[in-house]
Amino acid sequence: MTTDFRATKALFELPEGVTYLDGNSLGPLPKAAPARMARAMTEEWGEMLITGWNKAGWMAQPATLGDRIGRLIGAPEGTTVLGDTLSIKVHQALAAALALRPERKVILTDSGNFPSDIYMAEGLIEQLGRDHELRVVAPEEVEAAIDEDVAVMMITEVDYRTGRRHDMRKLIARAHEAGALAIWDLAHSAGAVDVDVAAADTDFAVGCTYKFLNGGPGAPAFIHVAPRLIDAVRPALSGWLGHDAPFAFEPSYRPGAAIARMRVGTPPVLAMAALDSALDIWDGVEMADLRAASLALSDRFIAGVEAACPGLELATPRDHVRRGSQVSFRHPQGYAVMQALIAQGVIGDFRAPDILRFGITPLYLDETDIDRAVEVMASILRDGSWDRPEFHARAAVT
Ligand SMILES: *Cc1c(COP(=O)(O)O)cnc(C)c1O
Repeated sequence: MTTDFRATKALFELPEGVTYLDGNSLGPLPKAAPARMARAMTEEWGEMLITGWNKAGWMAQPATLGDRIGRLIGAPEGTTVLGDTLSIKVHQALAAALALRPERKVILTDSGNFPSDIYMAEGLIEQLGRDHELRVVAPEEVEAAIDEDVAVMMITEVDYRTGRRHDMRKLIARAHEAGALAIWDLAHSAGAVDVDVAAADTDFAVGCTYKFLNGGPGAPAFIHVAPRLIDAVRPALSGWLGHDAPFAFEPSYRPGAAIARMRVGTPPVLAMAALDSALDIWDGVEMADLRAASLALSDRFIAGVEAACPGLELATPRDHVRRGSQVSFRHPQGYAVMQALIAQGVIGDFRAPDILRFGITPLYLDETDIDRAVEVMASILRDGSWDRPEFHARAAVT
């Protein structure tokens, strides 16, 4: 192993007394980010004003940061770009894929997908008004549901509730065999598992940067399009910064070169500054090392909880190849149990109806953290303190 995870852990701001197992939802603050953002504000925005677009490289950042993320997901240079939120990137990829398969009517996805991806598909179908069908099957039935009617298979690799991981290569190969395109949502994969979009030959990949990549709340999303396909993609969200010559202000849209056409409008410069410092940490990380460490910590957590916490049922596959970088357990009173854990400084989250979710992030978690989480969970289940009324009151964000 060449990655020094003790060194990466030291680069994060982790509050005293907190064991943070929710990096799959919102990564923690990199220590360097506040100064990097302050610099973007005072030295760049403050002093350079509008010249910052050139002098500070703001305009090029969606491409340069896109390439840095590309390295982590196996995407060649110049095939990944940053911008907007993940829901918007899903819309872009889906609209492009449907336009490339005009004679086909089915969007195939599975019931383990994150709701926003499904909602975006529903909205696009309505907007297009061409009688597309959204086919939602159980995760284990995706492969069998691929047929010659499918225009695009839209899959989130790792299930946000259970952590179950799809076999990307197999499903994409099967989709291509049937003449369908593949969109891969890497929201719970980028920075979490060893993805290789080029080897898996995906057509589109999208993902967010505020989860495992630690870019900060609201950090922009990314989109990757296979180079063999990009010239045929006509963007549905044809904003000026995806134009071939934005500053020529031509009367009509012409798609930009390669992946640049997937940009839409003005990039979030301040948010990109925080993401930039988060990506500095990733420069020293080998994804194979991260994957090995994640599995080892996950196994330790599963074994510890199963030995010490009766009443919790493992919802995550035991098989390494079928697992992402989170561990989930079911408990009929999962919400209250999670609130009790959080009150003791062990932060995970709850997903309805009964899932306790724990992100396993070797960048800043080690065996001591895992053991502490197990210990606290065992103690609140043993003494029943999770059942106190204050732990049953629901907040808006779970
Ligand atoms: C987190 C997540 C989203 C969130 O989308 P935003 O537009 O960034 O809020 C969408 N899809 C999946 C699969 C996710 O895990």
